Amino acid sequence: MGALDGRVVIVTGSGRGLGREHALAFAAEGASVVVNDLGGDAVGEGSDLTPAQATVKDIEAMGGRAVADGEDVSDAAGAERLIRHAIDEFGDLHTLVNNAGILRDRVIINMTDDEWDSVIRVHMRGHFMPTRAAAIYWRQQAKDGKDVNASVVHTTSTSGLNANSGQANYGAAKSAIATLSQICSKEFGRYGVRSNAIAPAARTRMTTSTPGLAEHLAEPEDPSVFDVWNAANVSPFIVYLALPECTFTGETFFVQGGRVQRFQPWTLSEVIEKDSKWTLDELRAQAPQLVSGTPASEVASGQRATRATT
Ligand code: NAD
Repeated sequence: MGALDGRVVIVTGSGRGLGREHALAFAAEGASVVVNDLGGDAVGEGSDLTPAQATVKDIEAMGGRAVADGEDVSDAAGAERLIRHAIDEFGDLHTLVNNAGILRDRVIINMTDDEWDSVIRVHMRGHFMPTRAAAIYWRQQAKDGKDVNASVVHTTSTSGLNANSGQANYGAAKSAIATLSQICSKEFGRYGVRSNAIAPAARTRMTTSTPGLAEHLAEPEDPSVFDVWNAANVSPFIVYLALPECTFTGETFFVQGGRVQRFQPWTLSEVIEKDSKWTLDELRAQAPQLVSGTPASEVASGQRATRATT
């Protein structure tokens, strides 16, 4: 008996990397899996169904059920066909894992319009389009009187939540995705649908191609040493978020190796206040209290410590 017997799951971008591990983990728990992957290169060029088919083959080899899907998740019609594919093939849909993504890193002054647009498109539309199509399906089920117990897992990143320089397009999209997830939680709760986001950290094509990061990701030579960067370490928590008994919703978690850590949402902190409009002289005197915990050197340079993968 698997924890997800009879459940139907879509994992976008599951031809390789983290998504592939998520798909294998869902299948190992008895879920039927739609393995979606456009199959382009790391910057999103081209398409190839082979990676998705390879994941399906591996799931079938372990006795699981899966089907390959080559839709582009950032295309509205493609995302609708993806949701329909799950329902037509396996009869229902219980969990959507939005995971597909690309990178086109560049500092802002050198970033082209296309580098901005393509990354925003794949991540933001690529999360929004399948989510909307799935939510329309679940809302109809709820209207028809069905007791819906469904969930969406979104993929954000410390690159966005901790604001990594050199990744303005990707970071902006990933922060937006964390907010999208919280809004989904608020809008879909009435239909029996939960929504959470994870910020993973793992060794994949995406991270090994990031300058300065690859050397930190090496697999330990000693097989008895825990390989914290193995992408498969992230997947159990994704499966947990999809369990019918899981009640989490509107949350965001960092997941790496054996560590799962909750992010606090944006939180109001230091305040200055008066009962009339501020003058510039008053602000000169009092506004520095708003960042009083920050060393002057950091304020001057705008530097904050950030550690991000992608
Ligand atoms: P990856 O490149 O190995 O896998 C991403 C997959 O998404 C690829 O197989 C690609 O073909 C697919 N894809 C890209 N665009 C698509 C589209 N339009 N439609 C369908 N499929 C598409 O990268 P990964 O590291 O496994 O990344 C998975 C997710 O995790 C991404 O959203 C990424 O931003 C996020 N992430 C990864 C890390 C990390 O440490 N690896 C850190 C933070 C966030």
